[in-house]
Amino acid sequence: MPNRTAFVTGASRGIGLACAHALASGGARVILGARDAAKLEAASAAIPGSTWVTLDMSSQESIKAAFAQAGPVDILVNNAAITKDGLALRLKKDDWDAVLATNLTGAFLAIQQVMQGMMKERWGRIINISSIVGETGNPGQANYVASKAGLIGLTKSLAQEIASRNITVNAIAPGFIDTDMTAVLSDQLKQNMLAHIPLKRFGKPEDVAAAVKFLASEEAGYITGAVLNVNGGMYM
Ligand code: NAP
Repeated sequence: MPNRTAFVTGASRGIGLACAHALASGGARVILGARDAAKLEAASAAIPGSTWVTLDMSSQESIKAAFAQAGPVDILVNNAAITKDGLALRLKKDDWDAVLATNLTGAFLAIQQVMQGMMKERWGRIINISSIVGETGNPGQANYVASKAGLIGLTKSLAQEIASRNITVNAIAPGFIDTDMTAVLSDQLKQNMLAHIPLKRFGKPEDVAAAVKFLASEEAGYITGAVLNVNGGMYM
């Protein structure tokens, strides 16, 4: 993907960082966005040709400012997300709002920032990182699951709206991937999950990044509105 500019949200660590590496290895000029400037600076230093910008996906002002600084974007990877888990009965509205704002509303607002440029160029790739639980549901994660299922609906609607401009919009639904997000889970829970993964291992950030790189490529130009599972067979 030479001559393409890619913006990856949540690129300071985990899956987003792996996506930034993968897209750069394909020749894209990558812009890394997240909240922690020090982490971004260190991450970007290891990715040739990349730059970084601080970005808070829960704030429309921050999103606008970051994308204004970034300039035109050909490939947008909406990867940043948070969890604030709890059983629905006791889930605080603040925790519902925070997760929906960052994971779903933020992704939508980021898309709005890049859409016009892509339409003008008649080329674009939007890749939304959803989750296996956006398809299956998960007790204790009503807010997170709603945000991830919402991303799938957003992906399919937008894919239909802008296909005529040669912009593809796809979602990736990772299963259990080894990152900070899953490091907090108990060993018991991890063993239970492993028993349900036909490929008998947890995923690596690079497993998801490879799918992102493919969907961002020229070769994936006839794929839109898809939800690509990267889950070791955990859900089919
Ligand atoms: P992670 O290790 O927790 O990393 C999250 C990234 O998002 C960080 O770079 C973080 O940087 C950034 N971020 C968080 N809140 C942000 C905000 N308000 N504004 C901007 N950036 C923000 O997570 P991960 O496991 O790599 O997950 C990446 C994506 O994959 C997420 O969408 C997640 O839902 C999805 N996913 C993960 C798994 C899994 O098993 N790990 C499974 C399915 C789906 P800062 O903290 O510096 O902002």
